[in-house]
Amino acid sequence: MNLHEYQAKELLKTYGMPVPPGIAASTPDEADKAAATLGGTAWVVKAQVHAGGRGRAGGVKIVKSSKAAGEAAASMLGTRLVTAQTGALGIEVKRVYVEQACEVAKEIYLAALVDRSIGRVAFLASSEGGEDIEEAAAAAPDKIHKLVIDPKTGLNDTDAKALAADLGLSGETADAVATAMAAVYKAFLENDASLIEINPLAVTEAGDLFALDVKMIVDDNAIYRHPEFEKLWDEAEVSAEEIEAHRHELNYVPMDGNIGVMVTGAGLALAILDMLKDQGGEAANFMDVRPVATREQVAAGIKMLLANAKVKAILVVTIGGGVLRCDTIAEGIAIACKEAGNHVPMIVRAAGTGKELAELALNNQGVQVTYATDLAEAAQLAIIAAGGT
Ligand code: ADP
Ligand code: MG
Repeated sequence: MNLHEYQAKELLKTYGMPVPPGIAASTPDEADKAAATLGGTAWVVKAQVHAGGRGRAGGVKIVKSSKAAGEAAASMLGTRLVTAQTGALGIEVKRVYVEQACEVAKEIYLAALVDRSIGRVAFLASSEGGEDIEEAAAAAPDKIHKLVIDPKTGLNDTDAKALAADLGLSGETADAVATAMAAVYKAFLENDASLIEINPLAVTEAGDLFALDVKMIVDDNAIYRHPEFEKLWDEAEVSAEEIEAHRHELNYVPMDGNIGVMVTGAGLALAILDMLKDQGGEAANFMDVRPVATREQVAAGIKMLLANAKVKAILVVTIGGGVLRCDTIAEGIAIACKEAGNHVPMIVRAAGTGKELAELALNNQGVQVTYATDLAEAAQLAIIAAGGT
């Protein structure tokens, strides 16, 4: 899950990270008032979308009056911001963040991430921070410094200060960077983050340190440990279906096709998507049901597929194992059809534990389904049921 800049800044602030005072706004009037409330002589109005490269795309504007803050917000809100990271369609700006502008003397890049190759948290840092970091890193890879953290000892101050020295910093600024790193490390661990990227971490003309931009990703698999994050879910960028799926513990990714798919097991689900594609079909989604799913969760998943107007056929592939049985899936299908109506053809390929019971349950409940005997046939029947290729 991505946090918005303003959410990540609020969170890091509680760990002692210095951030400029700022207020989020969703109307031009609110942005105008935010600047007035913050005080000062210059502000930055920043589009809150889950993508970087906003500055270059007109999504970060410096203004010198609260009225201009309102105007900058008006120019962004409701538009789709297209940056190097959004794709051609861009992302709709539903909120801006108004914060005090700093006199920036130096821009540092500082990130903590999970280095999957070694299974450890690592810091990456560079003295060449700011909007040009990608180009700078490509031109001079030696300017990117890395510090891998030993989980047994955590981040120690000596290593943090050595990294600051690598960035050409000394004295109080180096100390402040080491302190900022400690804050990032603590926030990273306590929030099950997979990335906290501060770019830029600015040194001001006055020698103070401020995180001017924060990108933070928290691990979806750990959100159950942080119910506070669910409140931050931005309906603007996580679709209602994705939230619904998360609520029912279904792994769900919307796609563009017309065949609604539910599969028990992520690897099998990917194989099914490949098979559909191979035979000229297009899946409307990826949906993987966990082995410990209940029939109510299965029903919620099928209802999501039934509610999708693009879906012209539903394909359910289940291999009953020791934990999730085919009849649990069948009961879920029956509940969904009873509640939402079975208005599209349903193709089921069931194998393994509970297969016979599953067929019995669907028959008893009067649910119309077509059974496929193998995966290739299942894909083929679904494509035909959805209207052919
Ligand atoms: P993005 O990385 O999406 O382009 P940033 O938040 O990093 O967006 O903003 C782009 C640039 O704008 C920064 O690199 C920085 O130079 C400048 N900037 C951002 N916030 C401030 C601020 N509060 N004060 C002064 N300059 C800022
Ligand atoms: Mg940035």
